[in-house]
Amino acid sequence: MIAAMDILITKAERSKLQDLDLNNLPFGRYFSDHMLEADFEKGEWKNIEIKPYQPLLLSPSLAALHYGQAIFEGIKAYKDKKGNAYIFRPQDNFHRFNVSAERMQMPQVPEELFMEGIRQLISIDCNWIPMKDDHSLYIRPFMFSSDEVIGVRPSEKYKFLIILSPTGPYYHVPMRIYVEEKYVRAAPGGVGYAKAAGNYGAAMLASAEAKMKGYDQVLWMDAIEHKYVQEIGTMNVFFIIGNTAITPNLDQGTILEGVTRNSTIVLLKEMGFTVEERPLSIDDLIEAHKKGNLKEVFGTGTAATISMIKELKYKDYVMNFDVENWKTAPLLKEWLMDIRAGRREDKYGWMWKV
Ligand SMILES: *Cc1c(COP(=O)(O)O)cnc(C)c1O
Repeated sequence: MIAAMDILITKAERSKLQDLDLNNLPFGRYFSDHMLEADFEKGEWKNIEIKPYQPLLLSPSLAALHYGQAIFEGIKAYKDKKGNAYIFRPQDNFHRFNVSAERMQMPQVPEELFMEGIRQLISIDCNWIPMKDDHSLYIRPFMFSSDEVIGVRPSEKYKFLIILSPTGPYYHVPMRIYVEEKYVRAAPGGVGYAKAAGNYGAAMLASAEAKMKGYDQVLWMDAIEHKYVQEIGTMNVFFIIGNTAITPNLDQGTILEGVTRNSTIVLLKEMGFTVEERPLSIDDLIEAHKKGNLKEVFGTGTAATISMIKELKYKDYVMNFDVENWKTAPLLKEWLMDIRAGRREDKYGWMWKV
C-alpha cells in the first residue's frame, strides 16, 4: 500500500507559468512546473517523488528504447466557475492503464500511486489549469521498462511518471478522412486495445501518406478483410444512420476502448438514439450514404472530444457531408464540454474532484 505521505515533494523554486501565453497553446508543447516519478524494482514501487519538471538521465541500453515496453494514458483536468479542479473519469483511465500494462507484460500500477499521484500533482500545479472555454490541463501518465540490458525479455525495472500540459482546443475544423486499405492499425490477437507506444509510431506512415494526398487522417479498416471500419486516427468513430448510432464493437481486441466513446454512448442513448456496438462494413456505409441515410460521422477522444468528419474517401467513392447542418455531433460536443466545465449537471458522476 502506498499512503499519501509516502510521496516525497520537492517544489520548484520559480514557476514557469508567468512565461506562458494562454492564447497560444499548441497541444502537448508546454509542461507544468512539476512531475511525478516512481520506480518499480524487485517487485515493488518505490522512490515516489513529485519534483520540478526535468529531463531524465537514461542509459543508452534502456530496454524501452529497444523493445518498446511503453504505455501511456491521456486524461484532462478542468476548473469550474468557482475555481475548483475536477478530472474527467480518471478511474477509467487508471483501469485501462493496467489493462495496457498486462498486455505489455509490465507491472500493475497500484490505484493509490496512480490516483493519489494525480491528485497531489494537480493540487501542486492547479494554477496550470486554464479557466478558458475549451481549455484544460492534459494529464499524461506513462510507464516504460528501465532495465539497462539489451536482451529481449520483460524488464525487471520500470519507471512510472506523470506530466501535465496545459492545452487549448485541439482540432478546430471538420476533417477530411482517407479510408485506409493498405496499412492496418490493429489485428485480432494484437495490441490494438492497449495504449502501447508502438501503436502510434506504427500508424504514422499511413497518416503521412494520407496527408500527402490532402487528407487529415485515415479511417482504419480491419486487418483481415479490409472491410470493417475500426477507428479514425487515434479516435473512436461513430456513424449516425437514420436514428441509430453505430460504433465498432470491442470484442476483437482491435479497438481502443475510449472513455469519450463510452461517455458518448451514454449521451446518445439519452438523446433518444438506438446505439449499436457492432461490425460495420464500408459497403454498408456507402449504401447508407447513397440512400441519404448516413447523417453524421465523427471521432471521439480526450484530446479533441468530438471531431466532425466532412469527407470520407474510399477508392473512387467520395462521401461529402453538410457538417454545417448537423445536430448531433455539435450537441454532444457542447454537452460534454458543459459537464466538464461544471455548467451542466453531472448526473453520471463523471467529474472527479481533486
Ligand atoms: C486514446 C485513444 C482513443 C480515445 O480514447 P479516450 O479515452 O476517449 O481518450 C481512441 N483510439 C485510440 C487508438 C486511442 O489511443
